[in-house]
Order: sequence, then structure tokens, then C-alpha cells
Amino acid sequence: MKPELRLLIVETSPADTEGLLQALRSQGFTVAATTAGSPEALRAVLGTTDCNVILCGHPVAACPAVAALAIAKELRPDVPFIIVSAQADLNLAIGLIKLGAHDYVKSQELIRLGPVIERELRDAELRRNQHITENKLHESRALFRAIVENVGDLVAVLDTEGRRVYNNPAYAALFRERDIREGSTSFAEIHPEDRERIRSVFRKTVETGIGECAEFRFVLKDGSIRFMESDGRAIRDAGGRVSKVVVVSRDITEQKRLEAELREMAATDMLTGLPNRRHFIGQLEQETARVHRDGEHSASVLMIDIDHFKRINDSCGHVAGDQVLRHLATVMRQELRRIDTLGRIGGEEFAIILPGAGLADAELFADRLRRKVAETVVTHEGHELPVTISIGVSAIHPADSSADDVLGRADRALYCAKEGGRNRVVVEA
Ligand code: GH3
Ligand code: MG
Ligand code: MG
Repeated sequence: MKPELRLLIVETSPADTEGLLQALRSQGFTVAATTAGSPEALRAVLGTTDCNVILCGHPVAACPAVAALAIAKELRPDVPFIIVSAQADLNLAIGLIKLGAHDYVKSQELIRLGPVIERELRDAELRRNQHITENKLHESRALFRAIVENVGDLVAVLDTEGRRVYNNPAYAALFRERDIREGSTSFAEIHPEDRERIRSVFRKTVETGIGECAEFRFVLKDGSIRFMESDGRAIRDAGGRVSKVVVVSRDITEQKRLEAELREMAATDMLTGLPNRRHFIGQLEQETARVHRDGEHSASVLMIDIDHFKRINDSCGHVAGDQVLRHLATVMRQELRRIDTLGRIGGEEFAIILPGAGLADAELFADRLRRKVAETVVTHEGHELPVTISIGVSAIHPADSSADDVLGRADRALYCAKEGGRNRVVVEA
């Protein structure tokens, strides 16, 4: 079906106008037309009439084609502009087409006019659709930028090899410009210990198209380390192949620090700063399991209880008692190797794990510790507070199934030390 033509004809001759209309009607077009015979009239008509083709006669003394074309380009650049000329002037035709006219038809060849108009209307439709697509693309790009450039998270678009296609401005605050330039590898700023793992998560995302969350560390331009949590999303091209990966990373350093602090607090006795009972028992369970697994490995445990501690509390007060507890923790800590674990496992009860120490070594160490404590004097408000401890010692047996087994033996030995007169070491094999 022929398109319906709403013509704007730039022409002053009624006969020429009629000739154009007849030619088009005879070619099967339905035609409605408005004419303009001067630049002012053209301007007015273009502002008020919805035409889909402009036909410009040449020569039209009152409205030369160059002037008409300029007005049409200004007001309706999307409407096809076709010159219909009585004279065959190739130079003029080229000149006008250079200025933006769409075609040039001689009035002796009006048979060409219909096909030219149809072609130009199709092209105009294509241009319009392309324009709409470009607008949409522009809009979605603007939206993308508005979002990614204003979020605190790090947003990276990577190609399938992990090279940078885009980094949002949040990156510039953390990394040097030259380290994050387009085309460089995005794995360089990842902590060396995390790099291979993250590279394989990335490869998997590219292969499967399914993104994954991952935690890793960034090494920043000042050398500091940030803990990150990232989420990768595969982007597919029109053919369905993964062509890009968008990675959004969030800084979880503070969260990690708080978690570590909470873990530390949950494991620490507040008065002495030593591992608390729960944490100590956990360590002892691990050591017991190790002895159980490895027949060659030996380890021993000391249970320590302050002698007549109640007297200190009763005579000097609870604050003095606390001071003694802190003091003892410090003295005992100084006697330990790095691999030993000292914990406060009760009110005035402590315990020590000595990895690698057999019963004889543990007994020697316990006695040295007992003497050390007895030799140091705690002073509180000018009073000297003599403190002694009793110690029960036992080795972890390969047959022990839990920490309770060895603690039970050490506790019995401690009871014997108390019974035997205190300030002494007793061993139960
Ligand atoms: P023994 O030689 O038989 O061990 O005598 P003891 O006086 O040490 O006896 P016991 O173990 O029965 O007493 C422990 C006391 O330790 C009782 C309690 O008031 C005190 N105590 C427990 N925890 C704390 C603490 O955190 N601070 C203070 N100041 N005292 C504590
Ligand atoms: Mg006690
Ligand atoms: Mg006691």
C-alpha cells in the first residue's frame, strides 16, 4: 500500500503545483497538500502543519531553494526535503544535497517522484527508529552513570579476561590512577594470598554465566589492607555469550574488625586479659585431639589454685584480691613459652597447657612457677600480701577422649597438693 502523503509544496505557480499533485495521484498516492510561496509562509506552515514530505520547486523567485532548505532544516530536520527542478543543473543539485536536501527530481521526470518519496519516507522512518534507540541508549547510560558514580560501593565492569572496561569514581579514592586505567588487569590490587582464588571465581562466572559472592582483601595505594565482599554478575551479548562481568564490591573492613573484637571479647577474661575458661577448654580439646592422633606428641596440663585466697579478700578487701589475681596472671605469663596457653578457668583458679612437655618437664616447670610466685610480693595500700599457689600436674594421655579426662587427673593432683600443706606441686600420671 502506498503511504498517505501530507505534502508541503514550496511553489508559487498553481499550474506547477497541480502538475505535481496529478503526477503523484496518477502513481496511486493519496495526497493532501499545503503550499507556501515565501520564506515567511514556509516558516508559518512548518510551525502549524504536520507534513511528512517537503517538495520544493526550483526556480521559485519568491522563495529560493537554498533559503527554503535552511528553514526546513531548522524547523523539521527529520522531514524528507526533495527539490523538483524545471532546469537540469547538476551543480545546483549537488550543492543542495550537500546542504541537506534528500533528493533532486527534474520536472520532466515526475515519474521518478513517487519512488523517490517512498524511499525517503522509509529512510526517515529508519532514522526516527534509530533516533529513538539512540535516545534510549543515551538514557540508560545516563541512568547507569548516575547510579554507579554516586554509590559508595566499588563498581567495576570487566571483560572476560578480567581486564578493566570501567571503574566507578569510588576506585579513584583508593587506587592510583595508573593502576586502574582501562585495559589493565583487575586482579593486581587484590592481596597476593587471595588473588588466585578470586581469579578462579571470576573464571567460573565467565564459564557458567552465574555470578558468585566472594570475600577478599584489597591492597590500597598507601599499602593498607581493606576487607571486601564482592558480587559478580555476568553480562551476555545479543548472541547469549558472556561478554562482560560487573563486579560490585563493598568494604567490610569495619565489620571484620568488630567481629574479631567480639570474638576476642568472647574468649577473654576481662579482669586478667587471659583466655577465659571456654576458650581455654577449646584449646585443651585441640591439644588432646593432637595427642590422640599423633602418638609421638606429648603435652601436659597444670591446674593452679591460689592458697588461702579467701583470707586476702577477707583481710584486705575484694579490690586487693583482684589486684593479686592480675599480678599473678602477669607473673605466670612471663614464665611461658609462646606455644603455651595460660587461662583463668575459675575465680582464683588458673590452668596451663604445655605442648611438647612430658610429665617430668611439666613438673619441673610447675615447681619453678610455684617458687616464682612465692618469691614475688604484691603490695596493696602499703601492705605486703604474700601469695602462694598449689599446682596439680598431669600429662595428656593418647587414650584421653576429651579435655575433662586430663583436667580430672590434674584436679585430683591439685587436691592432694592442698591436702599436703599447700604451696606445693603434685603429679598424677
Ligand atoms: P584454698 O587454699 O583452699 O584454695 O583456700 P581459698 O581461700 O583460696 O579457698 P576457696 O577456693 O574456697 O576460695 C576462693 C575465693 O576466691 C572465694 C571467692 O570469694 C574468691 N574469688 C573468686 N573469684 C574472685 C574474683 O574475681 N575476685 C576476688 N577478689 N575474689 C574472688
Ligand atoms: Mg579455689
Ligand atoms: Mg584457693
